[in-house]
Amino acid sequence: MDLKNARERLAKIQAKHAAYDHALEIISYDGMTTAPKGTAQNRARALSVLTEDIYKMSTSKNTEKLLEALDARKDELTEAEKRQVFLLLKSFRDMKKIPMDEYVAYQVLLVEADDVWHKAKETSDFALFEPYLEKIFETNKRFAGYLDPSKKPYDYWLNEFEEGLNMKICDKFFGRLKERLVPLIEKAVKKPQVDDSVLKGNFSDAKQEELAEYLMKLIGLDTDHVGLGTTEHPFTTTIGSHHDVRITTNYKKDDFSSSMFSVIHEGGHALYETGANDEFAYTVLDGGVSMGIHESQSRFYENILGRSRGFCDYIFPELCRIFPSVKKYTADDFYKAVNKVQPSLIRTEADEVTYCLHVMIRYELEKRVMAGELKVHDLPGEWNRLYKEYLGVGVPDDRRGVLQDSHWSGGMIGYFPSYALGSAYGAQFLKKMKETVDVDGDIAKGDFSKVNEWNRQNIWQYASLYTPAQLLKRVLGKDFDPDCYLDYLEEKAKSVYGV
Ligand code: ZN
Repeated sequence: MDLKNARERLAKIQAKHAAYDHALEIISYDGMTTAPKGTAQNRARALSVLTEDIYKMSTSKNTEKLLEALDARKDELTEAEKRQVFLLLKSFRDMKKIPMDEYVAYQVLLVEADDVWHKAKETSDFALFEPYLEKIFETNKRFAGYLDPSKKPYDYWLNEFEEGLNMKICDKFFGRLKERLVPLIEKAVKKPQVDDSVLKGNFSDAKQEELAEYLMKLIGLDTDHVGLGTTEHPFTTTIGSHHDVRITTNYKKDDFSSSMFSVIHEGGHALYETGANDEFAYTVLDGGVSMGIHESQSRFYENILGRSRGFCDYIFPELCRIFPSVKKYTADDFYKAVNKVQPSLIRTEADEVTYCLHVMIRYELEKRVMAGELKVHDLPGEWNRLYKEYLGVGVPDDRRGVLQDSHWSGGMIGYFPSYALGSAYGAQFLKKMKETVDVDGDIAKGDFSKVNEWNRQNIWQYASLYTPAQLLKRVLGKDFDPDCYLDYLEEKAKSVYGV
C-alpha cells in the first residue's frame, strides 16, 4: 500500500460523508424550522434514498480494506489520522451489524415520529405518539443487541452518547446528587420565595430577537458562521462542517428570559462546535466528542456564566434598553429572579438546583423501559408519579409531562444523563479555569475573550480527537468529581436564599 495515496483516499471518504451529512442535516433542519406542515413524507423519501447510499458507502469492501490497511500501519499515522481510522472502523463495523432494510426503516420511522410527536404534544395526546415510541424503544433494544450483545441494551446506548458511561456509574452519580440536592431544595423552598416579576410582561418577537442577536455577539459567536432560527424546542445543529452551525430559540411572549437563556445555552454548543481546529473540518473528528462534554459547554455559558452575579449586573442596562418594563427593577431583582429555586414541570425551564432531578426521572424511566420492566403505555402514569415524588408537583397534562421533550421522538434514548453530567463537568472546569483566568471580573465587564480562549485551548480545538475521559484528564489533571458541582449549587442557593 502506498501510504500517501491511502491518506488521500481516507480524506476523500470522509469528505464524501461530510457532504451526505450536510444534505441530511439541512433536510432535518428545514423540517424543524420553516418547512410547511404537510411535507414530512416528502422529506422521508429523500432521507431513505440518502441513508441507503450512506449505508452502502459505509459498508463497502474497498473502504474496509483501506481502513484495515491503515490500521495495520497506525504507527506511521498522525494522532488525528489514527483516531479517524479508529472511529471510522468502529462505525463501519457497527453499521454492518445492522441489516440495511432495518437501518433505513429506522431513519424513516424517526422522521415520521418527529412529525407525530409535534401533533401529539400540541393536542396533549400521548396515545397518538405511543405506537411510534414503542417502535423506537423496541428498535433501540434490538439494535443494541446487534451492536454489542455482551452489554445490556441501555448500557450500550449510554456508552454511545458518553464513551465509558454505564448504569453503574449513573446510579452512583445520581445517588450522590440526590443525597445533597434533595435537602438543599427542601431548605430553599421553605424560605420566602423570590419575586420574579422582572422577567414577566409582554415582549414582542422582534425585541426578543434583538436581544438574541446582541447575546450571540456578546458571548463571542461569529455570526457569519452561526445562524439563528426559531423552533418549538431549541437546539443546535452543525451543517456539513463547523463552518456552518445553526442554533434555534423559542420566543415566549410573557417571559423574555426563556429565549434569552436558550440562546446562551445553544450559543455554548455553537462555540464548542465552531471552535474546532480547522484541520478537522470534513473529517469524523469535526464536532464535539460527546453529549456530556457538549452540555458542559452549553450549560457553562447558560448557567455558570449567564446566571452569575457579574453577568446579571453587566446585562441589566441592556435589558432595560430593549424592554422598558424592566426599568422599574434592579439588577439584584434580575439576578434573584433568574436563580429562583422552584420545583416545576418543564425541564428546559428548570432552575439549576432542581434541574438534575428532571434528568433523574428520565434516566430512571428509560432504564426501566429498556430493561422491559415498564411498558411504554405506562410511561405517562409513571412520569407523573415520579414528578410528585421527587419534585412535589402534579402534572396537569402530557403536553407538560411525558411529551415535553423531543429526544425520544428523535431516537435519543440514553442522552438525558449527559445533561446532568455535563453540568457537573462544567463546575469542575470553572474551578480549574479560575486558577489562571479572572472569570468573575471579566464576565462582570462583559468580556468573554479570556474565558473563550481558555475553552478553545483546552476543549474546543480538540473536537473529537480525544475521548471524554482523556479530555477531562488533560484539562483537570485529575478525575471527575461531582461534589465540585454540588458545592457550586450550594453556594448559589446561599447567595439567593441565604440557606
Ligand atoms: Zn444542550
